[in-house]
Amino acid sequence: MQNAGIAALGLNWRYLAFDVHPDNLGEAIAGAKAMGFIGLNLTVPHKILAVPMVDLLDESARAWGAVNTIRFETKDEAGSWRPLALSSQTNEIRSQGFNTDAEAITRSLREELGLSVANRKVLLLGAGGAGRATALKLGSEGVSDLFLVNRTVKKAEALALEIKQRFPRVKATVGYPTGSVDLLLNATSLGLKPEDELPWNEAAFPLNRAGAVFDLIYCPAETPLLKRARAAGCRVANGLGMLLYQGAKALEIWSGQPAPLHEMRAALEKAVYV
Ligand code: NAP
Repeated sequence: MQNAGIAALGLNWRYLAFDVHPDNLGEAIAGAKAMGFIGLNLTVPHKILAVPMVDLLDESARAWGAVNTIRFETKDEAGSWRPLALSSQTNEIRSQGFNTDAEAITRSLREELGLSVANRKVLLLGAGGAGRATALKLGSEGVSDLFLVNRTVKKAEALALEIKQRFPRVKATVGYPTGSVDLLLNATSLGLKPEDELPWNEAAFPLNRAGAVFDLIYCPAETPLLKRARAAGCRVANGLGMLLYQGAKALEIWSGQPAPLHEMRAALEKAVYV
């Protein structure tokens, strides 16, 4: 996805994957900075560990307490910090941390389900890393009701409390709603493997009570949840768009140019599904 985007923008860059042990993350970031990298993406478990390791945090990373994108920056002749990619100077370099995950969720809901979440009722399955980020993003976007369901109930309770404290207008409760919701969102890892059980209790919440269903899982393209939701007449989308939009935003942060979404989506679909 990133290399297709880089090529479409005509940049002489390469996007590479590195396995870094969490114990070595600080050294890896410092090494990338010393070697003149344009930026980095980080994934689990590095996103939270990296927070104190960057020189400054963008508002997006501060709000979510996690960094998935780092941009290296340098001072231009006038003394203003600029992305390294847009500057000819390389004397003094700093790292800035961003988070493009949360925005990607709501963009995907908007573009793939035509859903703006403000004042909507949402049932969210899962309270792990992605579930928490999703809940906080939905809270910040002003959902009216957030129903949280998670195998480990204590985690759902802690998340409901956090939502109430940070977004007092959102009615955050633990458990299934008795009525209908505009959106059911799966942020558990159930559905990744064929032998997985369903991520929700069908008896407690029949899918014809959900207007739309979004599964953060994108492989398989249609999870058992999405298959049932489609059969129940819900609008459905999987997590591929979310993956695309967080990557596209990162490329924009590094390059200062609009991301070539068409090329990036085509490369992503080829890599994941072909
Ligand atoms: P995580 O932190 O490990 O959380 C896993 C979640 O799944 C927790 O809520 C966990 O419940 C639940 N779970 C796991 N096994 C279960 C089981 N056997 N029965 C019931 N619940 C179970 O993982 P994550 O990072 O949040 O990721 C969650 C999912 O989102 C994954 O499928 C991941 O691929 C997907 N994701 C997609 C994108 C994207 O770009 N589309 C981005 C991030 C994540 P407990 O709290 O009880 O353990």
